[in-house]
Amino acid sequence: MKVIHSLTEMVAWSKDQASSGLTIGLVPTMGYFHEGHLSLMRAAAGLADQIVVTLFVNPIQFGPGEDLEAYPRNFDQDCQLAAQEGVDVVFAPHASEMYQDDFQTTVSVGNITKHLCGASRPGHFDGVATVLTKLFHITGADKAVFGEKDYQQLAVIRRMVIDLNMDVEIVGHPIVRETDGLAMSSRNSYLNEEEREKALCLYKSLVMARKDAVSGILESIMLAGRIKDHILSYGGTEIDYVSFVDHRSLEPVDTVDENTLLALAVRINNKVRLIDNSMVLAEKDIPEV
Ligand code: AMP
Repeated sequence: MKVIHSLTEMVAWSKDQASSGLTIGLVPTMGYFHEGHLSLMRAAAGLADQIVVTLFVNPIQFGPGEDLEAYPRNFDQDCQLAAQEGVDVVFAPHASEMYQDDFQTTVSVGNITKHLCGASRPGHFDGVATVLTKLFHITGADKAVFGEKDYQQLAVIRRMVIDLNMDVEIVGHPIVRETDGLAMSSRNSYLNEEEREKALCLYKSLVMARKDAVSGILESIMLAGRIKDHILSYGGTEIDYVSFVDHRSLEPVDTVDENTLLALAVRINNKVRLIDNSMVLAEKDIPEV
């Protein structure tokens, strides 16, 4: 497996692959790999000839007071795990080369960034859209795989690629969870034992809403009220949002139907902000929790 830091080297490698008729599958990440990241790499391996994983903690998608400095990093372990998955290139650019001193261009996606995380993290999706535009260009990706864990990010990137006629196919991948249901996240490493227990409130809320909906409660306001009570009953939990939205537009809906996504963001002990989501009337069986 090659490890590339330089932008020019990455571009040259990508052009070589293209001229040999090989396709490139991209998995953009911020590193500190867990099974969720690895599952995206496996998915990408089935879609393209060469797999590039980008490992970049993108400073421009973090707001003031967010966890840019504290964000967990383990470059050597990440490279080892990627190599075990058969990844061809880990591309880990330096922030100073990605954003040179006079950098002044931003890609900004419209309405779909206004809700959910976009509302509570102003500028976040500008940072995401901008870095992914750059990474798509630099790596020459034919396909790029994203987790549904960051559902809004996936929706924003799908929109951007259509709107800007980018020649890259965006592929979504289901959320990978711990055995008790907690969605895997690099940020779970911030949680102590007590906070790890509290963190389960997100998954339990998703399951509760699905059960409620199947039993005939379909008004978002009713479902959200029950979820908020549940989350707050843990103590030390602060709700950022509990939102029932159309899974394509991400606009709020009053009544749940088969297109409704429940998206949650909860802060645990004023320390760790976690997100999760589920289609409310998904066909899958509802698990016991
Ligand atoms: P991150 O490193 O957290 O920016 O995530 C990189 C990619 O991995 C994004 O497309 C995420 O949606 C995806 N991802 C993160 N956690 C999970 C998970 N638990 N299941 C599936 N995909 C995930």
